[in-house]
Amino acid sequence: VKKIAVLTSGGDSQGMNAAVRAVVRSALFRGLEVHGIQRGYQGLLNEELRPMDIRSVGDIIQRGGTILQTARCKEFTSPEGQQRGAEVLRKHGIDGLVVIGGDGSYQGANKLSKLGIKTMGLPGTIDNDIPFTDYTIGFDTAVSVAVDAINKLRDTMTSHERSSVVEVMGRHCGDIALYSGLASGAEAILVPEVPFDVKQIALHMKENFKNGKRHGIVVVAEGVCSGEEIARTIAEHSGIEPRVTVLGHIQRGGSPTHNDRILASRLADYAVHKLQEGDSGKAIGIHRGEFTATDIDVVVSTKKPFNTELYNLAMRLSQ
Ligand code: ATP
Repeated sequence: VKKIAVLTSGGDSQGMNAAVRAVVRSALFRGLEVHGIQRGYQGLLNEELRPMDIRSVGDIIQRGGTILQTARCKEFTSPEGQQRGAEVLRKHGIDGLVVIGGDGSYQGANKLSKLGIKTMGLPGTIDNDIPFTDYTIGFDTAVSVAVDAINKLRDTMTSHERSSVVEVMGRHCGDIALYSGLASGAEAILVPEVPFDVKQIALHMKENFKNGKRHGIVVVAEGVCSGEEIARTIAEHSGIEPRVTVLGHIQRGGSPTHNDRILASRLADYAVHKLQEGDSGKAIGIHRGEFTATDIDVVVSTKKPFNTELYNLAMRLSQ
């Protein structure tokens, strides 16, 4: 591999910029040429490529979003689109590609790998839903944003002796809810991975208020149902009328935490190293402190295991 490219794809996440910076600088350090592709696979098909130098990624490590921008591209899901993508890369003399995104973006990278372009995937998503890595890039920041918001809600809830239902993101994965709920002392954490009984939760909250608890916070993952639905059910069974807050896209914004910046930098450097070794079609991660490079086929067909131990701890401490 002599010349590589980097793109960001799918939903953006904090730390993507840190990853782009590390891909570019690590490649240049290793004597490779590197191009940035604007707007994900759409930009690849539109030939929106430009050479990147050391300075092109200056002053971005601390910024949320992605300077390369991101897009979803229907055309690239067809074999013709993928063929054209590979041709564009070849035309520009590019034989390696780092794709920063979620599992959909990984599948695109895998298709390119089968067409002879060496590819590596980096887990750029706040959802933490990618297996074979303990954390995805952006997850730590998203949890921090959620915890910060819940702290603020708790201040005003306590003053008024009210309860709150907070809906957080994560798609089908409950990790943002689990981590932010545990870190903010939520009374209940509702995730798609664990069955629950809202009636029980409602009665428990009622009991707690009777016994002098001055607030109640329920964190619900968007993959379960809407916060509104949970609040309605709680009201039906207990008479408590929780206020609902949907955190939404603010969870995808803000300056990445040092954890996300370091994770992004390490994963990106390892991805470039693997490309230089001639490896391809792999998703890069860190599991229990060790780098992992797993076949994308395996990654996209494996469900990330849920951290039951952490969930049980949160439940034990939420009395
Ligand atoms: P996030 O989880 O943050 O939404 P993602 O990478 O899963 O990120 P997707 O919208 O699923 O987001 O995928 C991003 C892009 O990757 C798609 O718009 C499409 O261009 C490409 N892609 C998705 N699935 C495939 C596939 N099966 N084959 C080829 N390309 C794909």
